Amino acid sequence: MPGAAAGGGPQPAGLLELDGSAGEGGGQRLRSALTLSMCTGRPFRMRHIRAGRERPGLLRQHVACVTASQAVSGGSAEGAEVGSTEVAFSPGEVRAGDHVFGVGSAGSCTLVLQTVWPALMALREPSRIMLRGGTHNPGAPPFHFIDRAYAPLMRRLGCPSELRLRRHGFYPTGGGGIEVVLPGSPDGTLTPFDLLERGALRNGYAECLVAAVPRHVGARELDTLGRALGWSGEQLRLPLVRQNEGPGNALMVTLEHEHLVELFTAFGEKGVSAETVARNVVREVRAYTAGQAALGPWLADQWMLPLAIAVWRTGSPAGFTCSGLSAHARSNLELIGQFLPVTFRTSQADTGWRVDIG
Ligand code: AMP
Repeated sequence: MPGAAAGGGPQPAGLLELDGSAGEGGGQRLRSALTLSMCTGRPFRMRHIRAGRERPGLLRQHVACVTASQAVSGGSAEGAEVGSTEVAFSPGEVRAGDHVFGVGSAGSCTLVLQTVWPALMALREPSRIMLRGGTHNPGAPPFHFIDRAYAPLMRRLGCPSELRLRRHGFYPTGGGGIEVVLPGSPDGTLTPFDLLERGALRNGYAECLVAAVPRHVGARELDTLGRALGWSGEQLRLPLVRQNEGPGNALMVTLEHEHLVELFTAFGEKGVSAETVARNVVREVRAYTAGQAALGPWLADQWMLPLAIAVWRTGSPAGFTCSGLSAHARSNLELIGQFLPVTFRTSQADTGWRVDIG
C-alpha cells in the first residue's frame, strides 16, 4: 500500500478516470491529479489533456511534472510524451530525498515544484530539489510569488522550506534554476488554518527585473506604476540582474499584509510598451486592493490544493476568503473533489468569495 496514503483518509480505491477537458481544461488538472494521486495512493487515467488550450496535449513542462511525480513516489506512468493527450499514472510510496528536475525548455519550474510539494509536506525526512527551466513565465507563478506568498502559507500548514533563486529563467529562453530545501516536518503533522482576513498592509513595493533589456524600460515601468499607485523612492526598485540571464522583463508588486503576502506580476513582451506592462500589473493590484478578501485569485486556486489535503488528513476543517474564484479555482475544486472525500462550500462574501473545506 502506498505509504503516502497511510497518513489519513480512506484506502485507495481503483483507477480513477478523469477528463482533462472539463472545467478550465488546462495543465492544472493534470498537475493536481498527480499531486492527489501521490497523496491518496489512487492511480488515475486522464484523457483529453489540455483540450482547452491552443496546443492541446502535454508540453515539456507537463512531461516534467509526470516524471517528477514518478521520481518522488516511485510510481509508473504511461503516455508521458510531448503532445500526448492521455496519461495513466500509478503512484508508489512517496519518499523524501534529493532530486534534480529539468524542464528542458523555458517551461515553468515552479509548476513542477508545486506538483510534488504537497506530496512531500508531512514527511519527517528532508528533501532537496533542484529545478531547471523557467522561473518567471507568463501563465505560471513566478519564483518570487512562490517564495513570498505560497511558501509562508505552506510553512504555517506545517511544511517549512528554504528557497533559493540560483538563476533567472525567462520565457522563451529559460535556463533558470531554483533550489528548494524542505527540512522535513518535526512531528509529521499538518495544521489546517483559516485565512479569512489579510490584515493591515505593512509594506508595499514594486520590483522590475530586466535582463538583456535596456534598463530605461524598467525605469519607465516603475515610473508609470509609481504614478498610478502613488508610490515613490524605496517602493520602486530596479535590482541588478545578471544580464546573461535574459532576455526577460518582469514587473512585480509585493503587498505585505499582517496575515499574508500577495504578489502580482506583469511580463514585458516584444511590441508591448513599458507603460502597458505597468498598467497591466496595476489593474491586478487595484482589483485586489478594492476588496478585503485575504487571497488574490492566483493564490486562491493554488492554496486550495494543499489545504484540502491537510483537511482530509487531519479531519480539521479550514477555509479562506479570496478576491475572486477564477475558472482555474472552480476547476481545481471539482478535481480535488474527485480524489478527496472533503466538502467544499463556496459563498459570496463582501467583495469576494469564501471557501470552506470540511
Ligand atoms: P494552467 O494554466 O492550467 O497551466 O495553470 C496555471 C497556474 O499558474 C495556475 O495555478 C495559476 O494560478 C498560476 N498563475 C498564472 N499566472 C500567475 C501569476 N501571474 N502569478 C501567480 N500565479 C499564476
